[in-house]
This record gives sequence, structure tokens and C-alpha cells, in this order.
Amino acid sequence: MPNYIPTIGLEIHAELKTKTKMFCDSPNNPEENHPNVNVCPVCLGHPGTLPTINKEAVKSVIRVGVALGGEINPQTKFDRKNYFYPDLPKGYQISQYDQPLVLGGSLNGVTLTRIHLEEDTGRLLHSASSKAQSVNNSNEERFAISAKPLASYVDFNRAGVPLMELVTEPDIKSAEEAVNFARELQLILRYLDVSSADMEKGQMRVEVNISLGKWVKGVWKQGTKVEVKNLNSFGAVAGCVAYEIKRQAEVMKIGKLSQETRGWDDAKKETVSQRSKEEAHDYRYFPEPDLPPFETASLGLEKLKDSIPELPAAKRERFKKEYDLEGAKLESLIIDQRLAEFFEEAVSELKTFNPDANPQTLLNYLSSDLVGLMKENEVNFDDIKIKPEALAHLAFLIDQGKILSRGAKDILRKMFESGVDPEDILNAEGLHIVSDQSELEKVVVEIIAENPAAVADFKKGKTASVQFLIGKAMSKLKGKGDPGILRDLFERHLK
Ligand SMILES: [Zn+2]
Repeated sequence: MPNYIPTIGLEIHAELKTKTKMFCDSPNNPEENHPNVNVCPVCLGHPGTLPTINKEAVKSVIRVGVALGGEINPQTKFDRKNYFYPDLPKGYQISQYDQPLVLGGSLNGVTLTRIHLEEDTGRLLHSASSKAQSVNNSNEERFAISAKPLASYVDFNRAGVPLMELVTEPDIKSAEEAVNFARELQLILRYLDVSSADMEKGQMRVEVNISLGKWVKGVWKQGTKVEVKNLNSFGAVAGCVAYEIKRQAEVMKIGKLSQETRGWDDAKKETVSQRSKEEAHDYRYFPEPDLPPFETASLGLEKLKDSIPELPAAKRERFKKEYDLEGAKLESLIIDQRLAEFFEEAVSELKTFNPDANPQTLLNYLSSDLVGLMKENEVNFDDIKIKPEALAHLAFLIDQGKILSRGAKDILRKMFESGVDPEDILNAEGLHIVSDQSELEKVVVEIIAENPAAVADFKKGKTASVQFLIGKAMSKLKGKGDPGILRDLFERHLK
């Protein structure tokens, strides 16, 4: 088996979350389920209509470019990319050809070629049994209808939605690197608040260009490039790369690969040939005559640069240092900007209770219990009643041993429902831990008297029976005894 080395480049499309579409003022609402309501003569491609540029979309792409260290092209323009497809009413897509908004940049050590702005297409929907026509194009959906004859439908709600396209150099060498790149980009788009980038909803779509190469007697031989389009999940990206590496190596052993575009069959976990690859000249690109070229300086580049928030990589480094976090715990905060913000506010409150406090308890209750409650009740950080200060107070009381961990979850639930401070819940419900020595001692003496067998076991050297006695005392105290003090008292009384 020759040692093929994969060469992988990505093209990632992301729908921008502007209020209106790219070249008209029809609403850009990906949640709209009723077909063909967010449309107008411009995005339906009626003759005689004129597009206008959505500046918010242009600004969004510039901010992505700045965040990724790209060069913002001083002069840019739109071009027509001509092709026919039923989801493209104009017969061309307005895109950018030779003067994209952003040139270069890098992410995760992968060099970016360019980032440009274009418009999305509509969506085709095929009746269930017209499978043959729609196979492998995940842009299209099938739905079950019993009516005959078979039919295809088109929904133009998505036609003209601003679409960012990012193209990388073929720097990627493995499925893992490809997925990591796409994940980090998704995170950055969310941090910049320019796209929801939800892959399952088609808001971020990945295309993989992959070829294999190898050294033959000191000469690098690059194999034919294959493109796999419309990957709608990270799992599909990983699966597609792994599958193509294997498939291409097998084909190259016996013959020649054809240059083609393939699709991903998620059920079979394999790629399938769709069509031979188009070349740029097939599209007859030419400058969009209805939109003049423009200078990006007119959009206020300095202000856009200042609007870039702390990005995931920087936040990761800072959280590592400031909070001594790493691995999955750190990542659970980084993937959710609002969660990270809530955490930082709560930690700073926690320091007011105890300047040396370790944020570990706080993080546990935040990232597992509170986030769990939020999911269960479908609320987000905008609507949550519990304040960072109250969560910090809870963590402080737990660390102080004033609340036992088994009671803490109930208290957190009550805080979540009402927004009150944990101390108020303790007072109202008499949940304070009993740590009064004489009160606990009384119970210890009683339990020792009531359980002679366990006491005898202990005296025979079975030290574990002290745990049994603590359990008995706890149930007498309705779970509110301080376990540390109880243990000390038992050990003292049994000796
Ligand atoms: Zn429109």
C-alpha cells in the first residue's frame, strides 16, 4: 500500500443573520415555515428590478475577516455567476469573483484563501417517491405526500439570504483537523454574532476538496481533486474525509480518479458521484452591472475592528490562566459565550464572599445543574431568574459546609424557580445545617444506646460501622446534621 498523504481544503458557507436579505428588504427569517412569504420582486428575479446592497451583511463579513486576520480588500465588487437551477429564479447568483471582501487570514494554523459574500438560493422540495431526482443533494428536502403525479416544489424564502463563503488553502491533513477547523469557525461566527451557524438547520454548510498525493522517487505526485458538497454536520465532515481517503487510495491503486463533485449519503456513510466538476469559466462570471464597485473604507473599518469581542482562542488562554481550568470543563464554558460571561460574573461575586475561593464548586453547579435546569425549562440566560450573585452565594455556602451537596440541588431548583437568595431559602425552610455541638452530641449518645450491635462491631475493629451510625444520626436529624462534626463525636464517644 503506497503512503498517500491527504490534501484537504474546505469551503464553508454560512447564512448571515441580518434582518433583511442581501439585495432587497424581504425579511431574512430562517424560522419561517410557511413557503414563499418572505419574498419580493427582487429576490424572485422579476425583470426590471434592481438590487441594493445590505450593508449589515457586508459589515458582518468584514468583521469575520478582521477576526481571522485577513486583509480587507479596499475595493470590492459583486459579480454574476451564471447557471440554471430551479431554485435560482434570476438564472444567476450574485456573488464575488475576483475582488472578494477578504483576502487571506488564518485559523487553527490553516491559511485562508478568501472570504466573500453572495446570496443563498431557494429550496427545492420533492414529493417522497421522486427520490431519483433529488438524491444526494442535502440542500433539497423530500416530504411525504400521497398526491399523484409526483411533483417538486420550490420555496423562495431563502432565496437572496446573505451567504458568506470562506475558502481555505489545502493545508488540512486529516478528518480531525477538518472538523476542528469547522468547529472553531462556527464558534467564532457565534461570538461575532453574525450567524447562528447551526449545521443541522443548514445555516452552515461545509464542502470538502480532497485529493491524495505521494512521493515517487523524490517527486511529489498530486492525485485528482474530488469535491464533496453540502455536508450538514461535523459527523458528516469526519465521515466524508475518512471515506474519501480510503476510496481514492483504492481507485488510484488500479486506475485513475475522475475529477468530480460528490455528495454524502449520511445513511450509508459513503460519498456518491453527482456530476463532473464545473470550472469557473463554465459560470461566465462578469461584473454585476446593477451594483457599482465600492470602497470598504466607506463602511467605517476602525469601528468594525473595535467591535470584535474577545475571541474563543483568547478566552481559552485567559480562562486557563485566571481560573486554572482545562479540558472538557474549560471547553464547556468556551463554547457558550453567555455561560462564560455568567461564570465570570459569579466568580467575581464569589471573591467578595471569600477572596481565596476556588471556583470549582461554582462551576460544577453552573455547568451541570443550572444548565440542566435551563434546558429542562427551555430558558436562556436572557430570561433566567437566578443571578450570578445568588449562584456565587450558593457555592460559598456549600464550600463552607453550611449546605450539604445533597440538599444543594433542591435549593438550586428553588432559586431557579423564584430567583431568591439561597440564604433566604435556608431560613424559610429551616434547612440550616445543625452544627451545634451539644445538639449533635445528644443525638450521638442516643444512637449509640440504640445500636449496641454496631457499637460492638466497632469495638472489634470494624471501623466501617461508624458510617452506619452516622447514617442513623443523619436520619434522626432529617439529613441536616453536619457530617464532619458527627464523625468526630462518634469517634470520641466510641473510644
Ligand atoms: Zn426580496
